[in-house]
Amino acid sequence: MTRAMTPQEKGSIANSKRIVVKIGSVLLVDQKKGTVHQEWLDSLATDVAAWRERGKEIIIVSSGAIALGRRYLGLGTAGLRLQEKQAAAAAGMIRLSHAYQESLGKTGLTVAQVLLTLEDSEDRRRYLNARNTLETLLKLGAIPLINENDTVATDEIRFGDNDRLGARVAAMVSADLLILLSDIDGLYNADPTKNPTAERIERVDEITPEIEAMAGAAGSSDSSGGMVTKLAAAKQCMAAGCNMAITKGGILNPLQTLEDGAPCTWFTARGNPRTERQRWIGGSLQPVGAITVDPGALKALVSGNSLLPAGVSEVSGNFRRGDAVSVRNPEGREIGRGLIAYSADDARLIMGHKTDEIESLLGYRGRDEMIHRDDLVLS
Ligand code: GLU
Repeated sequence: MTRAMTPQEKGSIANSKRIVVKIGSVLLVDQKKGTVHQEWLDSLATDVAAWRERGKEIIIVSSGAIALGRRYLGLGTAGLRLQEKQAAAAAGMIRLSHAYQESLGKTGLTVAQVLLTLEDSEDRRRYLNARNTLETLLKLGAIPLINENDTVATDEIRFGDNDRLGARVAAMVSADLLILLSDIDGLYNADPTKNPTAERIERVDEITPEIEAMAGAAGSSDSSGGMVTKLAAAKQCMAAGCNMAITKGGILNPLQTLEDGAPCTWFTARGNPRTERQRWIGGSLQPVGAITVDPGALKALVSGNSLLPAGVSEVSGNFRRGDAVSVRNPEGREIGRGLIAYSADDARLIMGHKTDEIESLLGYRGRDEMIHRDDLVLS
């Protein structure tokens, strides 16, 4: 049964420029044969290509490495030990990427594989690297294909489920929308497999204890993530100003079908990715150093430009790439905060110099900007 999407939801897909799509193993992998559902994947690729055509940037977070690799290595279907899961992921990831490359390739799209660990999204230097790489791939027109780096992540440091990985990625790249393609079409107020009167919640504006209690009750056979992890993902997304939708993905052309009004639960974020990121940089991070800018740079910053090394007159403190620093005017008063693209030592070496001198001063070609304007908040 389809329903008419509210104008807000329809507008939300139409207005979302950057969309992360999370795909669960059960949609992609034939559980009996352990092979890829090729027809389904081809139909997803057609949807992705159509959205790209409309100017949207798409990032795919896909599960399925372990499901594909375990049969390939003859590991069977019984519970796997950690080392076996890691081995299965190593063998399966190649097959998974290859399947996406084939399907998206048919539509003329390029795929780029990115494997992340939990630490990559928590450590700010790595976070900045991952964010920059994803930005670069999107700028180059590629479709980043992301999975957890299961082969090196041990149980204690794993995301474990790609719902939360998807939310982390969505927050990391300031996505407008995260779509969880699942085996269930949304959040229900009771377990729909046991309770015929269970009703799907159409829209959630806030994750209240009442909503969380529903997740405890409702079941999903999705491989790793159940409804609890989906709500954890929704919380992260909404805090980052990103909307989220849960919908059934096991039909051909699942993205188009969602846009045409397929049943789903829609999680609406109050803020937007830009303002939430600014709040994070400006408000919740503790600066560990300071950068003083010259009058010319001050003017440039106020008119919305990035901070270049040439405009820096003093560097104080000891910080690492990706740390939050305070930005001061020539009189020493804080005028804003930002995430710095160089360590304190490197920043001292390049301050006052032109961007094209960075490579000869440091021996590597880093970012052109000391603080990119997307990483800067003026107070
Ligand atoms: N990263 C795992 C895989 O690719 C899946 C995690 C999940 O099921 O969410 O097999």
